[in-house]
Amino acid sequence: MTAYQILGALQQSEPDIAPPTVYRALTALTEQGRAHRLESLKAFVPCRCAHEQSLPVLTICDDCGTVEEHDGGDLVSKLTALIADSAFVPDRHIVELHGQCRACSA
Ligand SMILES: [Zn+2]
Repeated sequence: MTAYQILGALQQSEPDIAPPTVYRALTALTEQGRAHRLESLKAFVPCRCAHEQSLPVLTICDDCGTVEEHDGGDLVSKLTALIADSAFVPDRHIVELHGQCRACSA
């Protein structure tokens, strides 16, 4: 859901709730690892994995919108090796794959 979709849903029961409240909550949940921001869609999904230091790989169905989370922990060392020759210091990794889910591709 986008922040404004979440705001709209919350305003059904709390009409006075304002966008900054939703953004603060989403920022806190994201920083705590309890939600992920889908950068390519500017939307948010709850975290469904128990990964502490891992890398979430998010698959996004462009037909039905289903988002699945996969543990991409093995990718971190490969990504680190890939950029080893540069002086680049990554702060965060974003891996989002777009396509069709099992149901939609059947
Ligand atoms: Zn689908």
